[in-house]
Amino acid sequence: MKQYNIAAIPGDGIGVEVIAAGLEVLQALADKSETFDYTVEHFDWGSDRYKECGQFMPKDGVTQLREFDSILFGAVGAPDVADHLSLWGLRLAICQPLDQYANVRPTRILPGITSPLKGVTSNDLDWIIVRENSEGEYSGQGGRSHVGLPTEVATDVSIFTREGVSRIMHFAFQLASTRPRRKLTVVTKSNAQRHGMVMWDEIASEVSTQYPEVRWDKMLVDAMTVRMTMDPQSLDTIVATNLHADVLSDLAAALAGSIGIAPTANINPDSTVPSMFEPIHGSAFDITGKGVANPMGTFWSIVMMLEHLQQSDLAEQLMAAIEMVSADKNNHTPDLGGVATTRVVTDSVIKCLGE
Ligand code: ATP
Repeated sequence: MKQYNIAAIPGDGIGVEVIAAGLEVLQALADKSETFDYTVEHFDWGSDRYKECGQFMPKDGVTQLREFDSILFGAVGAPDVADHLSLWGLRLAICQPLDQYANVRPTRILPGITSPLKGVTSNDLDWIIVRENSEGEYSGQGGRSHVGLPTEVATDVSIFTREGVSRIMHFAFQLASTRPRRKLTVVTKSNAQRHGMVMWDEIASEVSTQYPEVRWDKMLVDAMTVRMTMDPQSLDTIVATNLHADVLSDLAAALAGSIGIAPTANINPDSTVPSMFEPIHGSAFDITGKGVANPMGTFWSIVMMLEHLQQSDLAEQLMAAIEMVSADKNNHTPDLGGVATTRVVTDSVIKCLGE
């Protein structure tokens, strides 16, 4: 029996609801497993804490997290707190110091779910997006001068380093090589961004020589949105910068049926540092407290966590339960056009795990 320590950071809004549901499902898995057990510590970090004491998490928050095997994260953001403060105060404040440089976002149309793309089924849309998660457009470089004056100036500088780009390319080529189609699309904007993005293309080409089994192509990010909607079958693994993949993965989630289903893993492949798993969606205050948040994105994120912890049997069991539950429209929450509650979906998944 292997014992894992998991840090749970539910955060704000529906983050609290979906993490509670996720932990119930994880407990159901652990109850019947002979290889997996865990302890969980809850951290009340988020916007309420910020409003009380000016900090989303304590100064030594990252040091505390280093002791854990994995982090399960809900969402951060509140209507009365500026988005850039909450993002940089919690999510990025964890990802960047822990160097979780690969943000991995699988997208599939699950059984029973209908894509807004006419006639597109699960056979046509099965992607995995790898987002560079440590630098690029979200490196935090920049500033504002002469604030409030007509001469005010503001900069956000994109940083691309050879080391940063090389490691994400290796990660993406390696991942593509493990998928049946062995196909990678490298997304850039190297026509307009003629420095960092041109280096990105060059490094992709260099790294590709070490993965001859992977077929790869390049796309400009604007053309990529057209290809995702008009020719989804032609894509498999996708790698893009922090900003480009942020946008493309929301589009991908919507094309697969709902942002409520999509999962994310923030991976540092060095297993001495915890990786972080979270649904792709935000705190969604419009539905907070109504009990209708779709917990599937959190369940699927837990599948990714179990895979990362090398508990592949449990990961497969949970994914099978998710797919069985999604196949029945009685389990569809309002974001999928149904009337099911978070409670109903959670109970259905737990019931499937027990069968
Ligand atoms: P962010 O924190 O990224 O600014 P947000 O709180 O504005 O995000 P999003 O995650 O972008 O919300 O989601 C947009 C909308 O989609 C939400 O306002 C909500 O109506 C719906 N939504 C998001 N996640 C879920 C979910 N898990 N279940 C049901 N509906 C959801």
